Amino acid sequence: MKKNIKIDRPADCCGCGACANSCARGAITMQEDAAGFIFPMVDEEKCVECGRCIESCVFTKPGAGAGEKPAVYAAVIKDKAVLKNSSSGGIFSALAAAVLDKGGAVFGAAWTKDMSLAHICVENKADLAKLRGSKYVQSATGDAFLQVKKLLAAGRYVCYCGTPCQIAGLKAFLGKEEEKLLTIDLVCHGVPSMKMLRDDLKFVAGDQYGALCDIKFRDKSRGWGVKGSLMTGDSKIKYTAGTSPYYFYFLKGEVYRESCYNCRFPTENRQGDITLGDYWGVRLALAAKLDGADPEEGISCVLVNSPKGKQWLKEIAPAIALAPSDLQSVRKRNKQLTSPSVPLPEHETLLNGYLKDGYTAFCRGYKQHTKDHMVRMAKDMIPAKVKRRLNELR
Ligand SMILES: Cc1cc2nc3c(=O)[nH]c(=O)nc-3n(C[C@H](O)[C@H](O)[C@H](O)COP(=O)(O)OP(=O)(O)OC[C@H]3O[C@@H](n4cnc5c(N)ncnc54)[C@H](O)[C@@H]3O)c2cc1C
Ligand code: SF4
Ligand code: SF4
Ligand code: SF4
Repeated sequence: MKKNIKIDRPADCCGCGACANSCARGAITMQEDAAGFIFPMVDEEKCVECGRCIESCVFTKPGAGAGEKPAVYAAVIKDKAVLKNSSSGGIFSALAAAVLDKGGAVFGAAWTKDMSLAHICVENKADLAKLRGSKYVQSATGDAFLQVKKLLAAGRYVCYCGTPCQIAGLKAFLGKEEEKLLTIDLVCHGVPSMKMLRDDLKFVAGDQYGALCDIKFRDKSRGWGVKGSLMTGDSKIKYTAGTSPYYFYFLKGEVYRESCYNCRFPTENRQGDITLGDYWGVRLALAAKLDGADPEEGISCVLVNSPKGKQWLKEIAPAIALAPSDLQSVRKRNKQLTSPSVPLPEHETLLNGYLKDGYTAFCRGYKQHTKDHMVRMAKDMIPAKVKRRLNELR
């Protein structure tokens, strides 16, 4: 049997790309399966059976983490323009800017010219805008891990922000602790495939698909919540669970890759030096401790998981407002911190339908879920401010 990476069960591969980055022979490419999820494919002709790809796979090792019990905070960036374009409290941007100030480089997910999602390297503050905001689809890591290794070898600071499995993959690829590497993992419930998103964009944008230049899953001009917009040069198309079958099923947790339903990372033992998430359900009393921050504009939960994370949080102190909190309060509205997403019975039907009939299956199921759909649309109509007041009463 060949001594290279083999995926026996789709649930055992998160698509992080560490194996592909580790192959010095260029024998591994990440390729889409029928549903569009990416998996490594080995070119046996090029493979010399060195076993490095197996060594760098997080799924072949027991899950390591940052190791410390997290210190938990609520936080928000002071720069209002940056806050508006960030998904929660803009803390990613504050950390990224601090790394750039030290001559470092920042890696994060950005839309490419053909509206796919990939991790790119940014070396100036203007380009940070490309990374800002949550994109609810899997980001291709490409050769980002190799780039990180080179930059670190050249003595540069590097910040890498991604899903917990991507951070675990990066660490497994590097194989040792790097003092100048700041890792930020996100609270994560799962990712669908780029193929599914592309199908959906064509459905929602129609003949404007070719003109799309940005996708905002979290458009704060529509309040801090899960409402988005598709942007063309001169217009904006509403993108919510009420207009998009993909967004609807994403929020229901039904269209993720199999590894997400078996995720090893929703634990206190985090992968990043710092973990960022939305501080959903933040109490007004806590928000009031953030220098008058408005909860309607978004607040982050910040978990500091290592001494390095603590040091970087100190660096950004002048740029943010910070208030101590605790894991229990954050977990109340963030199950993703303790357990993986659970597929509902429709998950299999939906996926099989997609494999057989393509995107039509999403639309068919979406119509059948009219009741859920109506409830979500009705909820969408309640102003965020009112929802938060109701939450205070719970
Ligand atoms: C797929 C996904 C699921 C999430 N699920 C939850 C959740 O269930 N609960 C919760 O509290 N928070 C969740 N988050 C995190 C949350 O939405 C914010 O990203 C986080 O709070 C940081 O916000 P910010 O305002 O500091 O920075 P922002 O500017 O909003 O974003 C920060 C970073 O996210 C990175 N990023 C965006 N999309 C992706 C992607 N697809 N893959 C990898 N990195 C990406 C960007 O590169 C950037 O570095 C999720 C994020 C993603 C991407
Ligand atoms: S065993 Fe070595 S050469 Fe073969 S695919 Fe893996 S890393 Fe590449
Ligand atoms: S290293 Fe990542 S992409 Fe490669 S097999 Fe393992 S989990 Fe999958
Ligand atoms: S749920 Fe787990 S496996 Fe899926 S993208 Fe998030 S961290 Fe990776």
